[in-house]
Amino acid sequence: DAYIQAIEAANDVINAYVTVTPEKAREMAKASDARYAEGKAGALEGIPLGIKDLFATRDVHTQACSDILNRFKPKYESTVTQNLWDDGAVMLGKLNMDEFAMGSSNETSHYGPVVNPWKAKGSDEKLVPGGSSGGSAAAVAAHLCAGATATDTGGSIRQPAAFTGTVGIKPTYGRCSRWGTIAFASSLDQAGPIARDVRDAAILLKSMASVDAKDTTSVDLPVPDYEAALGQSLKGMKIGIPKEYRVDGMPGEIETLWSQGISWLKDAGAEIVDISLPHTKYALPAYYIVAPAEASSNLARYDGVRYGLRVDGKDIADMYEKTRAAGFGTEVKRRIMIGTYVLSAGYYDAYYLQAQKVRTLIKRDFELAFHAGVDAILTPATPSSAFAIGDKELAADPVKMYLNDIFTVTVNMAGLPGLSVPAGLDSKGLPLGLQLIGKPFEEETLFKTAHVIE
Ligand code: GLN
Repeated sequence: DAYIQAIEAANDVINAYVTVTPEKAREMAKASDARYAEGKAGALEGIPLGIKDLFATRDVHTQACSDILNRFKPKYESTVTQNLWDDGAVMLGKLNMDEFAMGSSNETSHYGPVVNPWKAKGSDEKLVPGGSSGGSAAAVAAHLCAGATATDTGGSIRQPAAFTGTVGIKPTYGRCSRWGTIAFASSLDQAGPIARDVRDAAILLKSMASVDAKDTTSVDLPVPDYEAALGQSLKGMKIGIPKEYRVDGMPGEIETLWSQGISWLKDAGAEIVDISLPHTKYALPAYYIVAPAEASSNLARYDGVRYGLRVDGKDIADMYEKTRAAGFGTEVKRRIMIGTYVLSAGYYDAYYLQAQKVRTLIKRDFELAFHAGVDAILTPATPSSAFAIGDKELAADPVKMYLNDIFTVTVNMAGLPGLSVPAGLDSKGLPLGLQLIGKPFEEETLFKTAHVIE
């Protein structure tokens, strides 16, 4: 009830929820009380969560914040959300996001931007919460849920976590099932939690993760008790500092924060080593070929026949065209066009194939660092703190907006786990995050290291 009241009081301003489900929440909470009374409480019994609008939730609007899925109510539940309900969690509603998870500011949502609960000192300017999981991050930061699900294809968990002073982890590709999560770029998409602290993120990920016969890329490995890793010593650990992440134009404050993080880890007993990830500079351009290519294919299913919106036309082709023209927003159309172009005969070899080769090289950079004994890598999470909603420069130049993802996309390209932890405030009083990157399926290492920083 307290969370529902908080949502009612604040959502008009923050716009974090696109659908609120108070009846369902109360019904689930009642069932939780009953299980609790019987001594059968699950790991998340009664914990109220917000769910990113990308996860299919049975009989509850699921639209990826796109008009093309207008009023779509799935008849099925995503594996990740089912896992949470099986552990007793309670659903408060569906959270705002960039349309089809394409964006870094939550401004591409059909339901309008999310307002970051943080403001710069002495300023009333409305700031973005980051994206695409902007609703998830803002809801957690503003206490409009105890934790949230999110997804990360190229930074969409870690960047909004950094912009809102919350913790977000993108687990290793394959750790969580993608079944029932609306697809953006299938070889990059991973679900993960956004939470108020490292412990909550560890508890939530344990519940979300599972192998799943319905997603053949999910991996059959035991899911460790991540919470147990917290408080373990960092003695004997090697933390790599990649020189390629010192990018031109990065604010001095972010450099300082990074150095601060390095000294905290040193003080906790870790050894710091300089490493090189030489292909880093190609990650962003390669990502913006691979992700749109996969998106153009995944989004072909929205044809006005099977889901959501339909705009009638004089024949079926005309109906497809009118539906897609009306239903998709500008950024989604841009991605479909780029993706279709790079996959087309004549350009496939020059762009898509080349980007896939670059991806292999990026993955190899990390493998070499890990083989040389590095246990985890520390970098800034973002090249800036939260920026203004409607920033003209970013709106006019999509490539500038894409630069937000410069530190995060490498991790998706390599399929590795990445965590963003709040590490301090900048001179404007806005949160900044540090990113930890780990070996495949070694999320525990990230949790225990992040716990030292938070
Ligand atoms: N900002 C990136 C993009 O727009 C990342 C999105 C994501 O991780 N879902 O593609």
